[in-house]
Amino acid sequence: MNCKDSFYKDGLRFSCKRCSYCCRGEPGFVYLSRTDLDNFLKQTALKEAEFIEKYCRWVPYYDGSEVLCLKETENYDCIFWKNGCSAYEARPIQCSTYPFWDYLLQDKKAWDEGASDCPGINNGELHSFEEITEKHEAYHNNKPLARRDLAN
Ligand code: SF4
Ligand code: SF4
Repeated sequence: MNCKDSFYKDGLRFSCKRCSYCCRGEPGFVYLSRTDLDNFLKQTALKEAEFIEKYCRWVPYYDGSEVLCLKETENYDCIFWKNGCSAYEARPIQCSTYPFWDYLLQDKKAWDEGASDCPGINNGELHSFEEITEKHEAYHNNKPLARRDLAN
């Protein structure tokens, strides 16, 4: 998936500027995998069904399944956004691996275009090829939990 000939072989710059654009104000999908759900359960006193009822929704996925996703407020803020991420220690892998996602790493054009939505891209800390690869693989392998697999 990642190779040493890629456009980010010498690393990429990214530091979150905490503008919150990716956490609020627009409809979106923060998917939860089994690992993400377990991490949240470790941080809360809630049972699985209670956590899902309070913080999650089931949304259609491209493969025809329904998958677990965080709720949004009426104005499209992530349910955990409270003047910043109130779930930072347990935030989903989708959040912690941003911006080293499939579509942003497909080529330099896609990466540079991502900077129009995120002021942290191409700014700040230099992340090595190895670090990018590790986060990219964590993102890529973190499949959303399907409703049909919940009990498994
Ligand atoms: S859009 Fe970028 S800079 Fe703004 S909060 Fe999200 S990751 Fe950080
Ligand atoms: S869980 Fe935290 S980092 Fe992820 S979208 Fe919600 S507020 Fe943002």
